Amino acid sequence: MTLSEVTGISGEAGNFQVTVREHPRYVDMDKCIACGECAAKCPKKVDSEYEAGTSKRKAIYVKYAQAVPLKYQIDAEQCIMLTKGKCGLCSKICPAGAINYKDTEKIHEINVGAVVLAPGFEAYQPGKDNVWGYGVYPNVVTALQFERYMSASGPTEGHLIRPSDGKEITKVAFLQCVGSRDENKCGNSYCSSVCCMYAIKEAVMAKDHVPGLRTSIFMMDMRTHGKDFDRYYQRAHDESGVRFVRCRVHGIEPEGDSGDLRLHYINEEGRQVEEFFDMVVLSVGLEVPEHVKKLSDIAGIKLTKDCFAATSDFSPVSTSKEGIFTCGAFAGPKDIPQSVVEGSAAAAAVADILAPSRGALTREKTFPEERDITTEDPKIGVFVCHCGSNIAGVIDVEAVADYAGTLPNVTHVERNLFSCSQDTQDNMMQTIREQGLNRVVVAACTPRTHEPLFRETLKAAGLNEYLVEMANIRNQNSWVHAKDPSIATTKAKDLVRMAVAKVDRQVSLKPISVPITQKALVVGGGIAGMTAALNMAEQGFEVHLVEKTDSLGGNALYLAHTWSGEPIRQKTQQLVEKVTANKDIIIHMKSEVTAAKGFVGNFTTTISSADGLTQKISHGVGVVAIGARPYRPKEYGYGVIQNVVTALEFDRLFKLKE
Ligand SMILES: Cc1cc2nc3c(=O)[nH]c(=O)nc-3n(C[C@H](O)[C@H](O)[C@H](O)COP(=O)(O)OP(=O)(O)OC[C@H]3O[C@@H](n4cnc5c(N)ncnc54)[C@H](O)[C@@H]3O)c2cc1C
Ligand code: SF4
Ligand code: SF4
Repeated sequence: MTLSEVTGISGEAGNFQVTVREHPRYVDMDKCIACGECAAKCPKKVDSEYEAGTSKRKAIYVKYAQAVPLKYQIDAEQCIMLTKGKCGLCSKICPAGAINYKDTEKIHEINVGAVVLAPGFEAYQPGKDNVWGYGVYPNVVTALQFERYMSASGPTEGHLIRPSDGKEITKVAFLQCVGSRDENKCGNSYCSSVCCMYAIKEAVMAKDHVPGLRTSIFMMDMRTHGKDFDRYYQRAHDESGVRFVRCRVHGIEPEGDSGDLRLHYINEEGRQVEEFFDMVVLSVGLEVPEHVKKLSDIAGIKLTKDCFAATSDFSPVSTSKEGIFTCGAFAGPKDIPQSVVEGSAAAAAVADILAPSRGALTREKTFPEERDITTEDPKIGVFVCHCGSNIAGVIDVEAVADYAGTLPNVTHVERNLFSCSQDTQDNMMQTIREQGLNRVVVAACTPRTHEPLFRETLKAAGLNEYLVEMANIRNQNSWVHAKDPSIATTKAKDLVRMAVAKVDRQVSLKPISVPITQKALVVGGGIAGMTAALNMAEQGFEVHLVEKTDSLGGNALYLAHTWSGEPIRQKTQQLVEKVTANKDIIIHMKSEVTAAKGFVGNFTTTISSADGLTQKISHGVGVVAIGARPYRPKEYGYGVIQNVVTALEFDRLFKLKE
């Protein structure tokens, strides 16, 4: 459900009632074929949110070229027809009759067992207070805008030029912690955790865009914690030549009318320095938007002081309300890999509480019985797509269709304005049945995105889904040979001939199904391994948990408290008790994996125990959670001076005190 927002959540874990308001799109999703004719003619231009205000979009628009669903929508606040009752151009131009100015909002009531809140973040808006001249000096941009300038699909097609005068940039400055770690300017005292890394990435990538570009990052400190992050920071400095300046910036001014920006800062020696740049990029932090705070109220969950979802260290995707989970930047500023990990964790947590009703609402799509074509001679139908003007604007589609009609075993040829539109799908289905076609060629776009759709059409027409072949006369032809229609038309004929020859030899196929062993193996009985094992067991799967030592708990057993004060040993002990009490978890203590073979769904792993016994375990999936070993220092007199201890040993001293 797009253009939709949650306006109410009531009930409890296992049985929530959610109210969703679906805003009107003013474009019929079933009819819109995303040809873009409407946006081309719409006279109303506004700042594009997707391009972070670096370029314009129309009042009728798709957010970006690969948007899902790829359907147009009208911005009701900008549309001249919806605001003033005039215009109506898009309705006149739309070839599919998809425009509906009378569309209204719809309210949906949904019954769900669990809720995941993943509304993400909003980048800090420096324009509110004209921070560092943003909104006043055109060459001061945010990091999000800089991302768009660097993108090949962005407003400058990846050319790094200044917004003020279009001059290619030669010297760019990044200012860190804008909207973070600064109570005075923005009220956000927290670190946004991703902006150091993305600034380094942008500085390195910008150098690839403009050879010789000088990039400087102005910062208090670089926070590059994470797998391989610090190495990337070093490489940016040593190999890419990104300059890092630890300082306190105190002003930016324009240098006359030149468009250049004068940056003042106090360096580490306490000296005042002045430097000039073509462009200044503000590394903006992550904030929770107001509408998300409202959503939290609706859901009745607690927020932290900084308005991120409050969670516990031992169940980081559970909110304060049972059955409501969270993940991603709403649970705290974080990057994509961490957001993905949390997304999976939230899904696993939901699968756990919904396990008793798994599959209860699943419905299988039904298709008519498949026609047996083994004794039939090939009867091939060729459908040549215009794709609006995408194909027909370059290729002589009529000539291609005529040519297709001369090919062996082709008994039907037709041209479609948009082969993937719902009405063409329906027609295609009917034609296959009426004409007794037993093989189909669609000369259109790429099979990567569209073959699944045409396979469904064949199935719906009672044909085996593998009797379709696509000739890619758009992406690999009209788009690349747009300036040479004659060559493109010849190539289209060749592609169609090859597709016809191929489909002519195709036979009905059946997908092979391979049984999956519904068991899991987890290697490592620390916090991570036990959490994974418990989750899968609570979903009803048999789990084999292999632990090398004679006790579960791993390194957490030596730790006292988390930074927020949660008792680690106590929580770990509770987890150990749950794991040992779960009848679906088979624990192999003092055991190690000595061999493994197989493939996803069907592994066989050999585990050997300290007493010399070996056992082969069949399982469908495996989780390796063998943790890490604390480094044993050879420096600082460790092992020689009694009072020099590691952090782990220091925590153990706390334990002794307790
Ligand atoms: C300038 C910049 C550069 C970055 N570069 C990188 C990078 O290079 N690498 C990296 O790993 N990370 C990067 N990040 C961080 C990255 O953007 C986040 O980690 C990631 O987007 C978080 O994903 P998310 O799904 O939690 O949130 P979001 O990406 O914010 O997605 C949340 C989604 O929820 C929708 N939504 C919001 N409210 C509601 C509601 N009430 N109802 C329904 N839907 C709603 C939103 O429309 C949105 O689609 C960067 C961030 C910034 C600001
Ligand atoms: S009616 Fe609205 S969306 Fe359609 S063309 Fe006119 S301004 Fe654009
Ligand atoms: S990640 Fe870096 S730039 Fe972002 S707030 Fe933290 S220290 Fe500042």
